[in-house]
Amino acid sequence: MTHFKMAARPPAAPDPITALVDDRLAGARCAGQWPRFDVDIAGESDKQRAERLAWARGQCSVCPVLAACRTAVTEQRRPSGVWAGRVYGEPGRPPRKKAAA
Ligand code: SF4
Repeated sequence: MTHFKMAARPPAAPDPITALVDDRLAGARCAGQWPRFDVDIAGESDKQRAERLAWARGQCSVCPVLAACRTAVTEQRRPSGVWAGRVYGEPGRPPRKKAAA
């Protein structure tokens, strides 16, 4: 007989998804197209990545909830991708973990 240890609770939703359900970010320019705001997309060339991220940052510059997004990103444990016109994380690497206290 096999015993499986059940997780105490399901894993937390990824930060970008959490942000998209944040009422403060209603009307965001990135709503529905969060993959284009990712720091990295598999198979993408450096040039394609640079162009996509420049486009994403441009969307942020005219986003009606830019100020709220600046606040929201400070509340994320490990932001990754484009947030409020800034790129967080490095392509090809998982987001950096905070140092243990
Ligand atoms: S500022 Fe950019 S990342 Fe933030 S909600 Fe608007 S489009 Fe999305």
